[in-house]
Amino acid sequence: MNNKLLKLARLNNAPEIFHSIQGEGKSIGVPSVFVRTSLCNLHCIWCDTDYTWNWKGTRFSHVHDALPAYEKFDKKDWIAQSSVEQVADQVCSYQCSNVILTGGEPMLQQPVLAELMKYLVEKNPEFRFEVETNGTLIPIPVFDQYVAQYNVSPKLSNSNNSKKLREKPAALQFFAQSLKANFKFVVAEEKDMEEVLTLIKSYQIPAERVWLMPEGTTAEALAARRQWLVEICKKHHFRYSDRLHIQIWGSKKGV
Ligand code: SF4
Repeated sequence: MNNKLLKLARLNNAPEIFHSIQGEGKSIGVPSVFVRTSLCNLHCIWCDTDYTWNWKGTRFSHVHDALPAYEKFDKKDWIAQSSVEQVADQVCSYQCSNVILTGGEPMLQQPVLAELMKYLVEKNPEFRFEVETNGTLIPIPVFDQYVAQYNVSPKLSNSNNSKKLREKPAALQFFAQSLKANFKFVVAEEKDMEEVLTLIKSYQIPAERVWLMPEGTTAEALAARRQWLVEICKKHHFRYSDRLHIQIWGSKKGV
């Protein structure tokens, strides 16, 4: 029995673990089980999983702070502590081998997530793990050995994180050199592309491991940027990715 606890996002009074399809990037459309961890080391102003970090008392801002009905989150109500065995049992119940560790920032909990992956592959070697990360933390070997794919999404200045926080050169160098890492950038405007191209050049990220996705939280917003972004992908030999979860479910959580 493993005594370490995972801090997961709590949604509808339960740890956020759900069966869906990968909505974006290299594995788009693949049926997957998502395990959403709580806590993040960044605080993107437009974050759509702000219930993993935007706690009452934080000095950080979020675009929703201005909405009359929006309140920052009470940390104790939005974190579910679960054992490795509890999480593994739920993951196994879906009978789906592709598991996506997402967040928040899952790499803040590498040792216990390594335990989870170890436990799952001992039950069934067909389990395959993807990690969604903001690319600021270097994988430790005990964690890295189980990961098949990193979906690295470096944040740009539009996230409202300082450059010092969002751009960690050693971590980006690690991912640029790892063939397991794919980079995905959400792009809203020309200025974002300038930053994306600077990052790609600085860290020598190969074009075939870069996916660009339109910014938007509605199908209409995605559609408005799609053709423009496809032309940019063609020009730079990047991959284009849609955002299926938004097309299908809009901004609904836990699907
Ligand atoms: S890195 Fe991801 S989870 Fe963290 S604040 Fe930014 S968008 Fe949200």
